[in-house]
Amino acid sequence: MDRSNLIKPMLDAQYPVIDYGRGVYLYDTDGKEYLDASSGAITANIGHGVEEIIEAMHEQAKKVSFVYRSQFTSGAAEKLALKIAEAASGDLNWSFFVNSGSEATETAMKIAIQYWQEKGILTKTKVLSRWMSYHGITLGALSMSGHTGRRARFIPLLEDFPVVHPPYCYRCPYNLEPTDCGYLCAHELETVIKRIGADNIAAFIAEPVIGAAGGAITPPKDYYRIIKEICDRNDILFIADEVMTGFGRTGTMLACEQWNVKPDIVALGKGMGAGYAPIAAALVSDEIMEPIFSGSKSIMSGHTLSANPQSCAVSLAVLEYIEKNNIIPEVDSKGVYLKNKLIKLQSKFTFIGDVRGKGLMLGLEFVKDHLTKQPFSSRFGLTQRLIQGAQEQGLLIYPAGAGTVGTDGDAVLIAPPLTITKREIDDLVKRFEKTLQILAQKHL
Ligand code: PLP
Repeated sequence: MDRSNLIKPMLDAQYPVIDYGRGVYLYDTDGKEYLDASSGAITANIGHGVEEIIEAMHEQAKKVSFVYRSQFTSGAAEKLALKIAEAASGDLNWSFFVNSGSEATETAMKIAIQYWQEKGILTKTKVLSRWMSYHGITLGALSMSGHTGRRARFIPLLEDFPVVHPPYCYRCPYNLEPTDCGYLCAHELETVIKRIGADNIAAFIAEPVIGAAGGAITPPKDYYRIIKEICDRNDILFIADEVMTGFGRTGTMLACEQWNVKPDIVALGKGMGAGYAPIAAALVSDEIMEPIFSGSKSIMSGHTLSANPQSCAVSLAVLEYIEKNNIIPEVDSKGVYLKNKLIKLQSKFTFIGDVRGKGLMLGLEFVKDHLTKQPFSSRFGLTQRLIQGAQEQGLLIYPAGAGTVGTDGDAVLIAPPLTITKREIDDLVKRFEKTLQILAQKHL
């Protein structure tokens, strides 16, 4: 095509045109093959071109594609809500369907505020979060995000929600080691609550494993236990933003299960539709729904396409496919296999400072000097060179934040479809090693 009317993320960049996808591979119109090691934006969790999902879309489309949520419900929406309640741990029994992760976290925020209002407490309206977090691009979701780069242009429009340090052990904000830090970064939450006043705070939101804003930052064992205790002690709800981690990405349906922590509200997105349809959800516990059921009986949020039957049918088919093919129980061993191979690369390429993450959500942070952890100069643009170099090798990886404030370091996420085979992981690592070799030879 010699003319484009499409507004692309970078207006002056050339984007390959993808023709079709099969499994973990995508093919462009020139016939070039790409191994999708980032599942797009950590979304295509079951790979591309899965017949069962296409079939489910077709079947639903033959029945009905749209009903308006204030007039009707649909079989697809009802079945999906039931299936998610069964698959999620604890009493997270209520689903409110939306279309994107940003809508899911923003809905979660509104439900948390409404919960306190229904109980007659009107002052609890702030939502605490962490630096190096990303909860979405709409103004409410961005207000909760500790993402300096994405906030910058809109600061005057954002709510002034307080933030605490992330559990970033590789660059501990307190310069301590995980073995003897006393979890200061978790306890900092209580200090901030005291300063702001628990009476003003509705909820604390966190990504169980920090994704785009931190390159798979994974907290140590007791972190979420301490966080949840602080929240409970201060009557503050805990919202788990599982938009990236949910639907099996880290080896359990919800990543929170791995820390044995029970959130009050969960935001889901990305893997829910696995890229086949836009769908996301706020998943709410019985306890949080109770005062709403006995109070106003209505959640003050929603969109025209909320609970769209077509999207719900896709998500239901994705969940059935995950269960039928026993996908989640295999994530951990595949993740360990991939992570060990990435760790081996560290001895060849000393600019790989850290390899981290859980299940098939892995992150690598790059440093100029692995002893001092000094980052590369941001002018050098290592992450962008790496992404570009990988793409030349037919490999897709995802840029992530890193460094002392999240924008002064280099990291990538490697998070292929959960259906990837060990042979395909070998192919992924081969392409990645070649990328690193060329980068080192040409630029370092
Ligand atoms: N929350 C997390 C943890 C995310 O990673 C993202 C997107 O990357 C979002 C929320 C926003 O989701 P969406 O881009 O679908 O609006």
